Amino acid sequence: MAYISNCKLCNDKNVELRGSHIVPEFLYKNVYTSKHKFMPIEANETGGKVQQKGFRENLLCQGCETKLSLWERELSLFIRFLSGEKSKVLSLTDLKGNSLVSYINYDLVKKALMSILWRMSISTLPFFSDYNIELYEEKIRNWLDEGLSFNAQDFPILISKGYISGSFQAGLLMPLSQGSYGDDITMESVVLNGIIFDFLLTDGNEIPTEVELFGLHPQGTVIVRNKEYSEYGIDLSLFSSRVKDKDVLDFFSKYD
Ligand SMILES: [Zn+2]
Repeated sequence: MAYISNCKLCNDKNVELRGSHIVPEFLYKNVYTSKHKFMPIEANETGGKVQQKGFRENLLCQGCETKLSLWERELSLFIRFLSGEKSKVLSLTDLKGNSLVSYINYDLVKKALMSILWRMSISTLPFFSDYNIELYEEKIRNWLDEGLSFNAQDFPILISKGYISGSFQAGLLMPLSQGSYGDDITMESVVLNGIIFDFLLTDGNEIPTEVELFGLHPQGTVIVRNKEYSEYGIDLSLFSSRVKDKDVLDFFSKYD
């Protein structure tokens, strides 16, 4: 049945809204709820189970959906490359244990990531209840609606690969609680297909030198760090002990 309301992105009135994914469909393989509960939800081929669990929400008109999907296609190539898939465009150079990735379509990848952050923030679904970008919400909406480009100082994004006991965990989708970078920069983070994205909530100001160096850069580069979830400051004591459980190991091994 058609759902008629106002599009949350372009603000068009009384339009048919799609059942929009908060996080793009290609990222739903293994879904883990964060923090206190540890509950894997496997998405099947068509995403059926995920839909039943309510990872969609009536947010966007078809025009906005189409626009976001163009950005997401580029993000998909990038994330798959980080997870080990070959690419004719992207390249990877080892840099003292970290990886320098080059030839990223910065403009589209950053827009896709910012749109995910924005959707997680406006979502009313319990899964994304930790996300709140408050005063930036309307600004980012407008930016995305106008299709304006973000530069390096606008909401810098740091990228890491998440490891548990030395092995990369691909396919993991997990919301993370709000944190901070240094003393005064609020940070939102999310794990998408095992890749940890840190969004620094600061726009147009000077950013720390290392953030400029490591973060997703308009020249199409990023330095991806390898991080154990434990060193990341996420309390994974429950997570770690659960990971040793047989059902969880089975779950991971299926997707390795
Ligand atoms: Zn719209």
